[in-house]
Amino acid sequence: MAGVLSSQFDKKLSLKTKTVGEDRIKRAKEKNEDVAILSMEVPGEKGYFKCCLGDDCRTGDASSLPLGTKKMEYKTRQWHEKCFCCCVCKVPIGTQSFIPREQEIYCAKCYEEKFATRCIKCNKVITSGGVTYKNEPWHRECFTCTHCSKSLAGERFTSRDDKPYCAECFGELFAKRCFACNKPITGIGGTKFISFEDRHWHNDCFFCASCRTSLVGRGFITDQEDIICPDCAKQKLL
Ligand SMILES: [Zn+2]
Ligand SMILES: [Zn+2]
Ligand SMILES: [Zn+2]
Ligand SMILES: [Zn+2]
Ligand SMILES: [Zn+2]
Ligand SMILES: [Zn+2]
Repeated sequence: MAGVLSSQFDKKLSLKTKTVGEDRIKRAKEKNEDVAILSMEVPGEKGYFKCCLGDDCRTGDASSLPLGTKKMEYKTRQWHEKCFCCCVCKVPIGTQSFIPREQEIYCAKCYEEKFATRCIKCNKVITSGGVTYKNEPWHRECFTCTHCSKSLAGERFTSRDDKPYCAECFGELFAKRCFACNKPITGIGGTKFISFEDRHWHNDCFFCASCRTSLVGRGFITDQEDIICPDCAKQKLL
């Protein structure tokens, strides 16, 4: 007969906040800023020099460092000042910060373009405080309810077919509706409800159509659209 169901809405997910992008770049910068050295060859102290770009050297001669030209040294490698450039945009690093990665030198902008975490929705770089959902990164502001577009970061939400919905929309769209008041039965806060055949009622809406007493936990009789208590049913028969 009457049944109480309440366990089907416990698939709540919560968001984890994750900081991505900027930190990694900052770390990379800090680690290397003090080890790239721009210097000028002191006359008379000419040592061994070979520009790291080799055949691609911008001066045309990788092993010459004319007096008055600066060289850049980073770890074990050396470049002409103007050869020490970003591997993507080819702009000399100069006094800017750079990020080395696997033997390549990147300017901060190109590094970010290439390696920073991107939002799965807008494809723009996430510099701080993104959220992950299904292991994909999102901007907080891009992680929104599939239906009403309100931000879900820090909110409780429910997903359906891998799409996130705010509690209100989920209720409106997918929840069972109460036969008496026609409002969704959302299950938020453990709402109890009654199901009978293919009809559902909020506990508070489940009362006798005739005397209005609650039928929760009691027997009842269906009288076409109505549900009535056994007492009222007896009255009706008399
Ligand atoms: Zn060079
Ligand atoms: Zn660049
Ligand atoms: Zn985004
Ligand atoms: Zn919504
Ligand atoms: Zn109701
Ligand atoms: Zn009654």
